[in-house]
Amino acid sequence: MICDLHTHSAFSPDAKDTAQTMLLKAIEMGIDYYAITDHCDCNFWDLAPSPDVRDADMYGSRYYARASISRLDDLKMIYSGQIELICGTELAQPLQNIEAAQKIVSDKRLDMIIGSHHMNRGMDDFYWLELGKMSEEDVQKLLEDYFSEVLDMCVWGGFDVLGHLTYPLRYIAERCEREIDMSRYEEIVREIFKTLIRNDKALEINTSGLRQPIAKTLPDIGYIKLFHNMGGSLVTIGSDAHSCAEIGAGIEDGIELAREAGFEFLTYFRKRVPFMVAY
Ligand SMILES: [Zn+2]
Ligand SMILES: [Zn+2]
Repeated sequence: MICDLHTHSAFSPDAKDTAQTMLLKAIEMGIDYYAITDHCDCNFWDLAPSPDVRDADMYGSRYYARASISRLDDLKMIYSGQIELICGTELAQPLQNIEAAQKIVSDKRLDMIIGSHHMNRGMDDFYWLELGKMSEEDVQKLLEDYFSEVLDMCVWGGFDVLGHLTYPLRYIAERCEREIDMSRYEEIVREIFKTLIRNDKALEINTSGLRQPIAKTLPDIGYIKLFHNMGGSLVTIGSDAHSCAEIGAGIEDGIELAREAGFEFLTYFRKRVPFMVAY
């Protein structure tokens, strides 16, 4: 398998397998380019330790995000020659705590930063929202705010890859009866793509949706084609695995979609510089 550029180890609050266990599994699977990209939700930078949390000392992304980067930097040395380990992070809501974001972005050990958006300002992660109980207008407003905050993040541009665009659709598909008319967001999605392309940022094909009721990648083939047709050339593929068992899940399907959309190369990053690989 050529790559899996989005995975989480136990440094992420919602994953359990250690970085080393994840890495050994990736080596066993023969993955050429493998990234661990633990969470750094910037708005959780300074949370006080809580008794509910597995490891209270690690609470607050200021602790776990940096602990992950240090460990990955060590593992890169230990396993060099066996696999191309990419030291990554999934930087989320950077504009909701820009000082925190700048601290992570300036870390020279990082190879790749995924820019993600998991929660609109003042709201919980889409994962926690009772979308099934919301009116159609409220869901539309939620998506409008989502795309608008993603666009702001792209204009800021302190990352390398835009992670799982259309993330809320995963939960909308699970919890809402009705279909969402996505044509109303086409203009802002085009603006997001234009901004990514102008700044040489990559679009991620996140295959986690294939394991969920939505049964599509995030974003789906329509958006992947649009990005390509607008002139996008950098595309990465990641499973968003939160355990060893999920490493590589859906990657072959993601590769097929990249090919179908017209991409001749896949992208990975070293020290924040994109490299293209034929596939
Ligand atoms: Zn994410
Ligand atoms: Zn993730």
